[in-house]
Order: sequence, then structure tokens, then C-alpha cells
Amino acid sequence: KGERTYLIGGNWKCNGTLAENEALISTFNEAGPIPDNVEVAICCTYVHLPQLLATLREDIAVGAQDCAVYEKPGAYTGEVSAAQLKDLGCVWVIIGHSERREGFGMAGEPAELCAKKCKVAVDAGLKVMFAIGEKKEEREAGTTMAVCASQLEPLAKVLTAADWDNIAIAYEPVWAIGTGLTATPEMAQETHEAIRKWVADNVGADIAKKLRIQYGGSMKGANAQELLAQPDIDGGLIGGASLQADFFNVVNGVP
Ligand code: PEP
Repeated sequence: KGERTYLIGGNWKCNGTLAENEALISTFNEAGPIPDNVEVAICCTYVHLPQLLATLREDIAVGAQDCAVYEKPGAYTGEVSAAQLKDLGCVWVIIGHSERREGFGMAGEPAELCAKKCKVAVDAGLKVMFAIGEKKEEREAGTTMAVCASQLEPLAKVLTAADWDNIAIAYEPVWAIGTGLTATPEMAQETHEAIRKWVADNVGADIAKKLRIQYGGSMKGANAQELLAQPDIDGGLIGGASLQADFFNVVNGVP
């Protein structure tokens, strides 16, 4: 994988109380060393960021799961800006998670909005795990890569070449998220390779070579090794298993 190190992100979604987090943080803090070739980050709710920043081991970075699209502070009730996340001490933010793109039954986030948020976040000094991926019916219709490309196109339009240093792409087939269904390592590799090729063709060969592409979708200790061994899989974005001690089996599952 050349100079690419692994990136294992945990996405706690809208889970956790202070007490539950305290227990999980202790488990992670006592879980032993993190391999040298792995970067680890946990993305929690906004309200729990101070708890993680204060008590989670220092070799795990902390991130948020979204940010506002607005560059300047102002009259955006309920929003949290990328600059505020950076100011607090966050390193990462997830942008474009499929749950946000879909909108939980409300208006979801269009691809252009996700791309703009990503640019605003990078400009504020954050690193972004930018999530893309197809739905079940899109895979069945053979449009997986067309869907991924439609989510990457607006991103490629707004980012400068230097911005890509602070981006990881999280390929998350929507049908595999939270379902217990995982893409087979071969299926995931095929799409990761196609995503890297798309970036090489549409952004730049050097950027594609350096770009970390994480897999997400029911990844856990039991299937991490096989996935992470694939040539174009550079890490994972882990939902359910990041709420358990098993998260460290993923971290330790790197080749
Ligand atoms: C996710 O939330 O990004 C995810 C991949 O969830 P899970 O691991 O639970 O499928």
C-alpha cells in the first residue's frame, strides 16, 4: 500500500450516556498498544466530544459526525460549525454518512451539500472521512460505481489538490450498514479499486495513490482481517462494533 497507513474510525452514532461512555473509554484505554501503521479515531455525538477529548487515550483522535455548511458563525440555531469543532480539539469529522444523506425520513443531504461541508471542514483545519456508497437496489441494478462517482463528482469540484491530504473516503455500501451483511472482501476490493481509479482519472494519479479508502458496513473483529488485507482497503469505518471491546480486534486486524 505504499505510504498509506491504515485509518480505523469508530462511529458511535447517536449512542451513549456519560456513564456508558466512561466504561467504553476505560475498555479502550486499557486495550493495549495500537499498531504503528494504524491511525484510530472515534466520532461521537457533539455533546460527548468534551468527555472523549478529556478522557480517551491520546493516541486515539476524536471527531464529530457532521458539521454545519456555514463558514462563518451566525444565526444558525442548532448547528455546530467546523471551526467550533476544531477549536474544541477535534481532529476528524465524518461527512456524508448515508444516514444523513437519507435524512431519517426528513430531507436528506444532497451530494453538493456534503461536498460543500467537506470543503468548509477542511478549510477549518479538520480532516474528513467522506462517506459514499450505493443502496441495495443500486448494486442490483449494476450502478454501484455510477452512484459512487455521482457522490465524488461534487467533491472533486470543490477540493484543491492540497485539500485531498486531509480526506479519507469511506466506502460504505448502504445495504451493509448496521445489517450484519458485509460485502465480501472481493466485492469491497472491486469497488475500492474502482473508486481509486475514478480519483486517478478525475483528480490525479498521485492523489489517488495516497488516498486512504476505508470500508464500512458491519465490519467487526471477525471479518476485519480479510477486508484489511485487500490491496485497496486502507481501513474501516465501524459503527456497531465500535461500541464494544471488539473494536480493538479491528484495530489489531491490520496486516
Ligand atoms: C457506519 O455507521 O458507518 C457503519 C458502517 O455501521 P455498522 O458498522 O454498524 O454497519
